[in-house]
Amino acid sequence: MHLLRFLPLFFLCTLACKSQQRSADGYQAFTGATIIDGSGGTPIPDGVLLLQNGKVVAVGTQQNVTIPTHAIRHDVTGKTIIPGIINAHGHVGDVQGIEGGHYSAQTIKDNLALYARYGITTVVSLGGDREAAVPLRAVNDTTATQRARMFIAGEVITGNTPAEALEVIDKNHAMGVDFMKIRVDDNLGTSPKMTKEVYRAVIKRSHELGYKIATHMYYLDDAKKLLDAGTDLLAHSVRDLPVDSAFIKSIQEKKVPYCPTFTRELSTYVYGDTADFFTDPFFLRAYDQTTIQPLLDPARQAQVRNSKSAKTYKQQLPTAMANLKTLSDAGVPIVFGTDSGIPTRFMGYFEHLEMTMMADAGLTPMQIIVSASKNAAEYLGLKDVGTLSPGHWADFLVLDADPLVDIRNVRKMESVYIGGEKVADKP
Ligand SMILES: [Zn+2]
Repeated sequence: MHLLRFLPLFFLCTLACKSQQRSADGYQAFTGATIIDGSGGTPIPDGVLLLQNGKVVAVGTQQNVTIPTHAIRHDVTGKTIIPGIINAHGHVGDVQGIEGGHYSAQTIKDNLALYARYGITTVVSLGGDREAAVPLRAVNDTTATQRARMFIAGEVITGNTPAEALEVIDKNHAMGVDFMKIRVDDNLGTSPKMTKEVYRAVIKRSHELGYKIATHMYYLDDAKKLLDAGTDLLAHSVRDLPVDSAFIKSIQEKKVPYCPTFTRELSTYVYGDTADFFTDPFFLRAYDQTTIQPLLDPARQAQVRNSKSAKTYKQQLPTAMANLKTLSDAGVPIVFGTDSGIPTRFMGYFEHLEMTMMADAGLTPMQIIVSASKNAAEYLGLKDVGTLSPGHWADFLVLDADPLVDIRNVRKMESVYIGGEKVADKP
């Protein structure tokens, strides 16, 4: 039954793919667009992006890139090409609709496909990752996929003693992860915080095993201590206080990247009312009325409105936004992240909201694009992704409007490519 249904598609693809490969040696050339390569350099007008077998071969002007005779040509004159967006802090595999608890290989694939349709071509899943994620890790990608690439952190490391925490590290290490992740936070005074003794031991052990470690934190004081202890990524904003000169000096010296995740804050309070974006056609491309129905319930909305933690997170958001601007101005590497993939943090859409919020905080569109390409890949050590440069996977977006004029123009995606293959609009 199933076989019969897929047979025609199979033949079509086989024929098309074979003829493409024969005639073009796998070369594809995208010509005529303005190319923003993600490095932060001057955009290339009337550019050529040349790919072969899913990877970038050359990027440049029509004058300095020779297009092989048999290359398949895509005329994208008037468009803008930017690298696919890297979300350096997401969570993959647990959520369907707005519900958690669905962890499986299928959910991972569905989530990654959803991210991809929104132009998010790589996701660093910072915790909650299980065995099913291992074969789907980016390091195992050998060909074009219809889903975002994924890096994983395994289980978020917890423990009351160094011994307990080190046991979790060993488990993650044995499973096969890309990162380690801890939380150093008391959730606004409602839960015990990981002690300095434990996190220092965890960071040391992670480094011995060759892993970078991402830390969830909230308070300025903890962020300073985590920098001293050797964290490789501050995975959220400092939210309690404006960053001070001691912190700025420390983070500058250590060149530790900083990941603001404003939409994480937004998600704590925005459902106290009917969220504006529920009527945004771009949101409705992937999310329907049935999915959001529970968030329209007046009782649920009242509960959010009256929540003390929601009020606090909302109140502290301007501090977080001012801190981003201060740190960016100080030359601290900003990496793009959202903490999406947690129920009600809508994968794909929230990344676009995050970019808007970063712009509201005072970052330029170019700075935001770099945070989601070069910086994320370089500072987190993500292999073969990031800028549009020779050797990297051809993960990119073709936009109908210039994102440097308004970062919202990233939403005007004509198409998304992953590994040189166009991502289908529908699942
Ligand atoms: Zn997170």
